[in-house]
Amino acid sequence: MTDAPSFTPPIVAVIGAGPAGLMAAERLAQAGLRVVVHERMPSVARKFLMAGRGGLNLTHSEPSASFLDRYDAPARARIGGWLAAFSPADLTAWAEGLGQETFVGSSGRVFPRAMKASPLLRAWLARLEGLGVEVRVRSHWTGWEANSENGVLSFDTPEGERLERPDAVVLALGGASWARLGSDAAWVPGLEEAGVTVAPFQPSNVGFDVAWSPLLRERFAGQPVKGVALSHAGRTVRGEAMIAAYGIEGGGVYALSAGLREAIERDGKTELTLDLRPDISRQALTQKLLRPRGKDSLSNWLRKIVHLDPVAIALLREAGPLPSEPGPLAARIKGVSLTLTGTQGLSRAISSAGGVMLEGVDDRLMLKARPGVFVAGEMLDWEAPTGGYLLQASFASGVVAAKGVTDWLKSR
Ligand SMILES: Cc1cc2nc3c(=O)[nH]c(=O)nc-3n(C[C@H](O)[C@H](O)[C@H](O)COP(=O)(O)OP(=O)(O)OC[C@H]3O[C@@H](n4cnc5c(N)ncnc54)[C@H](O)[C@@H]3O)c2cc1C
Repeated sequence: MTDAPSFTPPIVAVIGAGPAGLMAAERLAQAGLRVVVHERMPSVARKFLMAGRGGLNLTHSEPSASFLDRYDAPARARIGGWLAAFSPADLTAWAEGLGQETFVGSSGRVFPRAMKASPLLRAWLARLEGLGVEVRVRSHWTGWEANSENGVLSFDTPEGERLERPDAVVLALGGASWARLGSDAAWVPGLEEAGVTVAPFQPSNVGFDVAWSPLLRERFAGQPVKGVALSHAGRTVRGEAMIAAYGIEGGGVYALSAGLREAIERDGKTELTLDLRPDISRQALTQKLLRPRGKDSLSNWLRKIVHLDPVAIALLREAGPLPSEPGPLAARIKGVSLTLTGTQGLSRAISSAGGVMLEGVDDRLMLKARPGVFVAGEMLDWEAPTGGYLLQASFASGVVAAKGVTDWLKSR
């Protein structure tokens, strides 16, 4: 009697061990495929761990329609499909399944209780190991050998060049911000050569230059301006801004960063308006400012009657001497205008806009120019503010790409 022929499952190479790549690896291994993850850095998920330093805002708890509105309009329809495949609730349940209890913060953002990424990553890597996923670090994909048609991948490893011909590939190489954490976008020319259109990378969720007075820069750099409303080109968001030595940054600024960046590109500068007391009308504020100052200094008086802290008062003074009349003073508090003169670079941006254009991938996230090669995560051309939207779309696109691979392999 002869043995039944043994079945060797197809090998899938996942390149890039960030949230998108590792999520694709998990789903592929669960589908019974042999998965090898290649990561160019000496350890995996460095940007994910860095995101953990800020508490690891995994996703957001807002309703799905407004959630989807956070993504740039051209990408929204596609991202809607990703979120249908792996929703914010699925992401939260997944984190909890890895032993990471989550909570919803006052702003609706979802965090792990541990407020960091390392315990989640540890549990995740253990799960991947249990599923038989092989992770190779210091394995730098440098492109296809000779040409993209033969499907032979070339890796730069400490042992020299290594060639592999997997049955399918998931590229999850990240965007172009914080290159020192691994995602350096060095893959762009190789993909372009293979016929893939890549929109130029631009900084997103990034700070902007402001020519502060020496006093403001020296005394207040690093301080938050809390509970403000920020407006630009007809859009207003509530949030926090942070004074930086070079200018201004923080969640509220990031939410407007796409429009601010485009306006600076077009006009060389743009105006950002801060309402330092968004919960009170200008009339009501004027009434409060009618109260006599007595012996108080102007700063003390403003602190007492309109609860402005020193950094807010310093911002008011940046626009020139403070008006003494209640009406103009209320107008200044409700509309501090800052001139932004430049955008900080990719190396300081939390994320990047640009990447592999969505027109170049089908709904399974397979490259139209390279059948069998799938793309996930921030290396695709979409953009979103901070608030958990970046990780959510990265994880969800990893799920979609993995499903795409399994469907494509089955169809062959
Ligand atoms: C400081 C900071 C804080 C952040 N905080 C949050 C947050 O709280 N919430 C949120 O939603 N988002 C946050 N983000 C954004 C979030 O971390 C990213 O959007 C997310 O990591 C993107 O996942 P990814 O898998 O697509 O790419 P990455 O995480 O960038 O992973 C890509 C991986 O591919 C590897 N790679 C690249 N090229 C090659 C190659 N040629 N060969 C082999 N490997 C390669 C890289 O080394 C990297 O490990 C933050 C980002 C930063 C910088």
